Amino acid sequence: MAQTGTDDRSISEETYRALQDIEQELGVDGSEAVCDLLGTRPPSPPSPPAESPFDVDALRSRLDKPHGELRSRLRTLLADPAFDLDRNKPTSAYRSDVLDACVLLAEQGLGATAYPPEHGGQGDMRAFMTTFEMLAHRDLSLVVKFGVQFGLFGGSIQHLGTKKHHDRYLPDVGTLDLPGCFAMSELGHGSNVREIGTTAQYLPDEEAFLINTPREEDRKEWIGNAAAHGELATVFAQLHTSDDIHGVHAFLVPIRDADGSTRPGIRIEDCGEKMGLNGVDNGRIWFDEVSIPRENMLDRFATVHPDGSYESPIPSDGKRFFTMLSTLVGGRISVARAGLSAAKSALTIAVRYGNRRRQFGPKDAPEMPLLDYRTHQRRLLPPLAKIYALHFTLKDLGKRFADASPEEGLEDIEAEANALKAYTTRHTTDTIQTAREACGGQGYLSENQFAALKADTDVFTTFEGDNTVLLLQVAKGLLSDFRREFRDMNMFATVQFVAEEALTRVREMNPVATRKTDPDHLRSEDFQREALRFRARAMLQSAAQRLKRRIDEGMRPFDAFVEVQDQLVDVARAHAEHLTLQGMMAGINRTDATSLRSVLSLLRSLYALSTIEADLDWYLESGYVESSKSKAIRNEVNELCEEVRPHAGGLVDAFGIPDALLQAPIATD
Ligand SMILES: Cc1cc2nc3c(=O)[nH]c(=O)nc-3n(C[C@H](O)[C@H](O)[C@H](O)COP(=O)(O)OP(=O)(O)OC[C@H]3O[C@@H](n4cnc5c(N)ncnc54)[C@H](O)[C@@H]3O)c2cc1C
Repeated sequence: MAQTGTDDRSISEETYRALQDIEQELGVDGSEAVCDLLGTRPPSPPSPPAESPFDVDALRSRLDKPHGELRSRLRTLLADPAFDLDRNKPTSAYRSDVLDACVLLAEQGLGATAYPPEHGGQGDMRAFMTTFEMLAHRDLSLVVKFGVQFGLFGGSIQHLGTKKHHDRYLPDVGTLDLPGCFAMSELGHGSNVREIGTTAQYLPDEEAFLINTPREEDRKEWIGNAAAHGELATVFAQLHTSDDIHGVHAFLVPIRDADGSTRPGIRIEDCGEKMGLNGVDNGRIWFDEVSIPRENMLDRFATVHPDGSYESPIPSDGKRFFTMLSTLVGGRISVARAGLSAAKSALTIAVRYGNRRRQFGPKDAPEMPLLDYRTHQRRLLPPLAKIYALHFTLKDLGKRFADASPEEGLEDIEAEANALKAYTTRHTTDTIQTAREACGGQGYLSENQFAALKADTDVFTTFEGDNTVLLLQVAKGLLSDFRREFRDMNMFATVQFVAEEALTRVREMNPVATRKTDPDHLRSEDFQREALRFRARAMLQSAAQRLKRRIDEGMRPFDAFVEVQDQLVDVARAHAEHLTLQGMMAGINRTDATSLRSVLSLLRSLYALSTIEADLDWYLESGYVESSKSKAIRNEVNELCEEVRPHAGGLVDAFGIPDALLQAPIATD
């Protein structure tokens, strides 16, 4: 049998042919494949340290703003073994550990930060959101339990109650002496909460409300803190007085005594094991004529007087309900920020692994780090750019929420929160999956954290508002604004509007612009902003036309809306993309250091161009770009990936996630 030599080893002719066949099938260079199979490649040198031509600490300080001190404190605090919770313990033990960790956080004053100083807090909603965001690097059950107790339960008392409720309850909520629940969802109504069935009937003779679960589908469902620890619940119910039904209002209902026994008239059941977040005790609650005093109605937006007369500064039931909900939108922003933290953790692991893990390489050269491969860069770096864009955008939204007052209207902030919650948590789910795959088999090991990240964040797309439902709400709001824009226009404004639209088309859609491919143009803020703005606006216009056509033909508006839902979610997504780019541009403008601005601008371009690239078919169809420009955008994304690549290690280090929190050996050893 003939022997074929390779270096100092030899293989049989048969083996050689077989390898040649494989090589042909795979389209790889035979000598390299042989090298790989026989292990004759020169040994790989240790991975070079990731090059960071910017100051990582300075970038971290920039990202940490304005709560650098709080974040540093949390990094140290959360590294304490007391917060190293074992999710593999039996459920009841894991739940107790999560509760104990929440108590530790409360002892540090971190639960009450958003409450007013006279109730043990600091009146700092932004600090609360920052804490929430940082906890997500540690344990996501802890984040959710913390959010239910201090954010949802405490927040409902703070925002829907009045001084008597604040004085009586907030201090104990903030220390966790009074564990509680936020009981809005029901088995029958999770998204459409305006139609919940729980009732609160006012009895003037007793100056009390009777809380009832009329039908099985009206039981409270999924309520965090209900199955094991909650003692008091904010219960949302339809308010009945002797002469009318006034829509959904919130009531404080004791559900357990301090010794853990369930109160009379209350039945509680555990929801049971979930896909993730098993450190949170979600439960179902039924109410059987549970009497609560009149003062237990959270009465900031409406009150029932002792004689049963009803009074509210907001006459419309619908408007009142949505005003109440809008005060709680901080929870939605916080969930988006916690989801973003989970995506940061996942990408930190994958980027670090991609920097050190080597597979294949050119002949006679060391194997190449994964992150030097184009596909790897394409998989990890655009998501990294999007995380940066969302970081600035969500932080800014949090600030605007913290500074706003419901009396002045929170509609705009709520609409942005809806869009960005859906956009961010979808990114979280996608990024964690991508990062897991990018780590190959190692990513599948529980010790490397993706299992927990995936299981625990999966439901972020559902709670605090189902993502599809939120996007449809966003689109509805945009359509109303669009209609109002036209309705309010006088003749002059209409002419001006049409002229501006025509001008935009001439400016952006002339043959020179649609064929312009030079990198300076593609990387310019103007092009990126206008392209995303154009898409958001054009999609809205087209959806509005589709809706109008159907309604003009006699279709019920509800049915017409259902028929165009597919397009409406895209309208909302395009809006979220535009908001995110604007948020990132504002963030960069507020960054002083030139070196940071330049690396952040690279990320901005990568975010914008990869977002445009994902919809290139649409841009081509609409005539916004021609094929030469479409190709140039694709090339530019490749180019940007290469330019960002040397910074990738520094960019994830700047998230400042301590190894003790990350706990993934492939990223930390
Ligand atoms: C782990 C967990 C914890 C939770 N904690 C709490 C809590 O503490 N307190 C609380 O009050 N609630 C809580 N919830 C409830 C949560 O807010 C709801 O599950 C959520 O609002 C979605 O409601 P649903 O489950 O009834 O889904 P549904 O509303 O039934 O939605 C099911 C599907 O239908 C789609 N859909 C719904 N309506 C439409 C429409 N009009 N058009 C097109 N598609 C539609 C949705 O996109 C979704 O995919 C929790 C839920 C979970 C899973």
